[in-house]
Amino acid sequence: QIEEWKKLRGVQTTSKDGVHVELAANIGTPNDVVGVMENGGEGVGLYRTEFLYMGRTELPSEDVQFNAYKTVLEKMEGKPVVVRTLDIGGDKELPYLNLPKEMNPFLGFRAIRLCLEQKDLFRTQLRALLRASVYGTLRIMFPMIATLDEFRSAKALLLEEKEKLKAEGVQVSDEIQLGIMVEIPSTAVLADQFAKEVDFFSIGTNDLIQYTMAADRMNERVSYLYQPYNPAILRLVKMVIDAAHKEGKWAGMCGEMAGDATAIPLLLGLGLDEFSMSATSILPARSQISKLSKVEMEQLAAKALQMQTAAQVVELVRAIGE
Ligand code: PEP
Ligand code: MG
Repeated sequence: QIEEWKKLRGVQTTSKDGVHVELAANIGTPNDVVGVMENGGEGVGLYRTEFLYMGRTELPSEDVQFNAYKTVLEKMEGKPVVVRTLDIGGDKELPYLNLPKEMNPFLGFRAIRLCLEQKDLFRTQLRALLRASVYGTLRIMFPMIATLDEFRSAKALLLEEKEKLKAEGVQVSDEIQLGIMVEIPSTAVLADQFAKEVDFFSIGTNDLIQYTMAADRMNERVSYLYQPYNPAILRLVKMVIDAAHKEGKWAGMCGEMAGDATAIPLLLGLGLDEFSMSATSILPARSQISKLSKVEMEQLAAKALQMQTAAQVVELVRAIGE
């Protein structure tokens, strides 16, 4: 099996009936890019920039950030790199921001909510990203978007910083795709409206599942409700993918579900364009997809959407392997 995976390192990901999907990797630091290339990643689908901000006593400067983003873009040699702007809060804290404790941090002041209020912090990150954009294929995405207004505000700040940089004579790419993570049910439900304004979606199932099922992703006692294969989740995923395609945009997924062998046949059938996962899952996933017919998986997904329980969906998927 390992030998088979090795052979798949340099090839594109294609289903048995010849449909190409992109397998990208999730990374947390520039050093992780080595593993992405070694495992034949077709891009970075999620660069979690939180780690740049953690484990230090003050905010990282624009130059510190610029160097990190530039390194990742250069090492990826022109392959697409989706950088997620700061997603702090929830389970990830930054002591030096001195934020008040909250009763429900996962429902609180986090990610884009914080960035839109602490605008200087956000502008610094956006400037670093824009300056780095000329070193590769940069895509920017905003986390935890709940409303169109949030996306529009974040985009406006990005465009302001872009104009400022240009006025200063700094080179900035004009090809940067701008997308959002779909992690909140309201955004999945209004995906048709978002799709008119964004360049892409990346579905963050780690959070989308916890918010849809109202089951804390860290709480063992309710983990039985944390159900990636629940038809409700699959229907939301479908809404997002269909909405993107209707507007000629692409839809990816960067939650754990994207690399899950039981979910992959369903996601292929639902039409997902990009799967972003831990680097070590890429070759097994490529091998799995090469043996699946997209047309057949479309039928499988259609059946799954009509199931009543997650267990029934799992049974349905397991049956194709027999
Ligand atoms: C997600 O929510 O699915 C996701 C990829 O973001 P994180 O796991 O960093 O919250
Ligand atoms: Mg998330």
